[in-house]
Amino acid sequence: MRIVALASGSSGNAILVDDGTTRVLVDCGIGPRTLAKGLKAAGVAPESVQAILVTHEHIDHVRGIPQAVAKWGWTVIGTAGTVRRLPTEVRPAAKTVREHVRIGDLDIALVPVSHDAAEPAAYAFTSRTSGQRAGVAHDLGEPSDKLIRAFRGVELLCIEANHDADMLRDGPYPAFLKDRVASATGHLSNAQSAAFIDAVGTAELRAVLLLHLSETNNTPEIACSATKRGVTRLARRATLAAAVRRAPSAPIGRTASGQLALSL
Ligand SMILES: [Zn+2]
Ligand SMILES: [Zn+2]
Repeated sequence: MRIVALASGSSGNAILVDDGTTRVLVDCGIGPRTLAKGLKAAGVAPESVQAILVTHEHIDHVRGIPQAVAKWGWTVIGTAGTVRRLPTEVRPAAKTVREHVRIGDLDIALVPVSHDAAEPAAYAFTSRTSGQRAGVAHDLGEPSDKLIRAFRGVELLCIEANHDADMLRDGPYPAFLKDRVASATGHLSNAQSAAFIDAVGTAELRAVLLLHLSETNNTPEIACSATKRGVTRLARRATLAAAVRRAPSAPIGRTASGQLALSL
């Protein structure tokens, strides 16, 4: 299994999960041209993607769905609350899932997360082909015990590291927005992300990709160094990288040729 963040952050999110036989996207907040370019760079034909799994209805996660669905016919999947708030044109054909869905060779679990959206979810993947496990979670104010249980023992972990708490506090955001971002239904800080990596990290953990970095209140360097400092020895054995906002990140996990993609 390999994961590529085609775009990550408030300007648009799209995360490719590919176990070699089945390909899905987590969210689709970028337009079809950028999406096609990113997929091509990852060696993926858009037609081979089977579904978009939507985490929640915020615009940076759903903006590209109508055009992508019209162009490539992808199935759209989400919780009932998310599906109800999708763009009108994709709502009728979207599939509501409560807890589990199987797409091709991927067993997928939806896990509720705490965020200021209708019914936001994270996604946990198990490949039936390889047995590998992965988790993708962005846009959450605090991790729940349920999320920790669902992600514990994954090989590939994609987790939000939105902001440095001091940069947010001292930065230019208005007070209401600072409060919103830092709240339990906002976004994870680098320190919270490190604690989460520690909580779910076992000897199986191979690679961590930090998602949804704030352009104003974080940098990839600060996110990576804070996270590295924050995790214990066990999780330190994993490779760690931060997703790029407007371009595809280096893949984490095994590529088609079986090579472990190191993304440092
Ligand atoms: Zn977002
Ligand atoms: Zn959001």
